[in-house]
Amino acid sequence: MLSQNLWFADDLGANFSKPPATVLVDEIAHQWNFYGTQLPNFLAEGVSQFTDTMFVEFMQGQAAYDKEIQRLRDGYTKIASLLNTLNTLQGKGLTLEQSASELKMTPEQVAPYWAYAPVGELPITDPKVFPALYFLKGALAIDALRSEIGEKSFLAGMKAVFSGKTDHLWTLEEFKKVFEQQSGKDLTVFIDKWYYQKGCSEVCVISAFGWGLFVFGGCVSPQPTRKS
Ligand SMILES: [Zn+2]
Repeated sequence: MLSQNLWFADDLGANFSKPPATVLVDEIAHQWNFYGTQLPNFLAEGVSQFTDTMFVEFMQGQAAYDKEIQRLRDGYTKIASLLNTLNTLQGKGLTLEQSASELKMTPEQVAPYWAYAPVGELPITDPKVFPALYFLKGALAIDALRSEIGEKSFLAGMKAVFSGKTDHLWTLEEFKKVFEQQSGKDLTVFIDKWYYQKGCSEVCVISAFGWGLFVFGGCVSPQPTRKS
């Protein structure tokens, strides 16, 4: 929720790279993505995290965009690995406090993850997934889609989705079809890998080394910043 006291009391800053500007960007984008075109939450939040990153690219350039994508990737890896470790520790019968001590973390730091430890990392379409994972990997999936089908088809697809049907909740299959139509590519394997499988070891284009150079990497990054 945006409130004048909370957000607008602060200066927006010179390059709009921090809250409250980033929160405004995210919420404005949600007027189309989620409230206009109704996407399921895992998809809407991935798209909005991605469009926030596109805003960074627009304002600050390619290097800042790449840095942001890396931050998302690092965040994913960090959280997924923590959930999987807690899953193992819980399986051995350790309590939250014992697990925190084992990980050299405080119980307060571990607490938000504890309820998700019984399932650990899950595909981002799974209703039981730790929400931050679909913010992070959801955005990385859209970035990967952009690389997969190219800028022209990608932007045409985004335009088609967000000027498309507003009278019902979209499915991932419908979303996929729009980008298939724009690009002429079969995205079945791509969608399966990003949305229905665990992990984030997709081939990633790291443009810092030049577009077109593919590297294999684990996914990473930041604390969930989510909003709604
Ligand atoms: Zn959002």
